[in-house]
Amino acid sequence: MNIKLPTEVRHILTTLEAAGFEAFVVGGCVRDMLRGITPKDWDVTTNALPHQVKSLFSRTFDTGIKHGTITVLQNRQPFEVTTYRVDGTYLDARRPESVTYTADIEDDLSRRDFTMNAIAYNPACGFSDPFDGRVDIKRKIIRCVGDPTQRFGEDALRMLRAIRFAGTLGFTIEADTLNAISAQKENLVRISAERVREELTRLLCGAYSQAIALLESTGLMPYVLQSRTYEGNLAETIRQIEKSPADEHLRLSLFFSRFESVEKVLRALRFDNKSVQAICLYVRLLPVPIPADRYAIKKYLYQMPAAYAQLFFENLLTLQEITQVSDPAHIARLRQISRNIHESCECYTLRSLAVNGKDLAALGIPPGKAMGDTLKSLLDAVMRDPTLNTKPTLLSRI
Ligand code: ATP
Ligand code: MG
Repeated sequence: MNIKLPTEVRHILTTLEAAGFEAFVVGGCVRDMLRGITPKDWDVTTNALPHQVKSLFSRTFDTGIKHGTITVLQNRQPFEVTTYRVDGTYLDARRPESVTYTADIEDDLSRRDFTMNAIAYNPACGFSDPFDGRVDIKRKIIRCVGDPTQRFGEDALRMLRAIRFAGTLGFTIEADTLNAISAQKENLVRISAERVREELTRLLCGAYSQAIALLESTGLMPYVLQSRTYEGNLAETIRQIEKSPADEHLRLSLFFSRFESVEKVLRALRFDNKSVQAICLYVRLLPVPIPADRYAIKKYLYQMPAAYAQLFFENLLTLQEITQVSDPAHIARLRQISRNIHESCECYTLRSLAVNGKDLAALGIPPGKAMGDTLKSLLDAVMRDPTLNTKPTLLSRI
């Protein structure tokens, strides 16, 4: 099979080769091409040393120079070019102590995590595939390069990567590799919460949600959850996640929907503030059926981040439909009312109220609690009756 490479990538490979070096595309991009999927980025591996790579291209960045990686800009797109390397000894199941450059592509491929990720290709030499990764891709198998116990011992994140790839690619984890995960699960405590979060999120957004169950069956779950057990019925949650759009916040909300303290676990996993707020709001509102009533819906919209209120509300309805909080006909009715509220530009925020703090101050109401309460009660009246939202009407009500 021939792989069609983008012009920029071919240029990088031929430039390195013309200077007397070897160069291959490698890793996820080769795997994805072999699966018939267009890669989202292209990585190049070469025996040229970083300073030699830099001398051959006009625009480069030292992004990962510690690990031998130079970013080469071609046609304004970044490509990572990494010198063949082997990882030094791993002291803490987390990061190699040092990296050593090597002259042999096969040494570089042997440090990689799974056979499907350890294939190199270039148009002149074809494939370098010493671990039969192409066969495993064909059979849809995730298998460690070398001895799984040793490889997970070196870097515990690989265990979670295996499960994430199972969830995103729909591949099966080979038995020895899977057993080694169960045996070494405790080592995941050495991996930073950020990296665990990243893999968990990608797993949850995968198209093959059944792989989520592997977190429980391998015993990795409590380590993923930063020393907590899963709260809720995981099998049922997985069925719900399968029905959800592949949106991070929606799927995380379903995954954590039965947690007593959602915010604590999200913070422990170092989620950003915006995500914590969104997920906590969804989880809090999820179990409560919403009446098909304009005023009640505006009260909901008011609680949501103003810029995305309608999207938030529609997402909440999607979640309620999936978890069967209300029947589909009721959800459809709620969707229709909320769209109608937006189309008719009905006010449910203080910003779109026809009077503001300045107007009240002009009437002698001092800024502070009294002013806030007055504005809120005017907003409440306007939410019940949109025709009241004119300055004269509202001022006359004060
Ligand atoms: P994707 O980008 O779709 O997640 P990928 O395979 O490109 O998949 P990256 O994290 O971008 O994954 O890594 C690029 C390559 O580097 C991998 O294909 C693999 O060969 C190697 N690699 C990445 N992480 C590890 C690791 N923890 N241990 C060993 N090799 C790794
Ligand atoms: Mg990648």
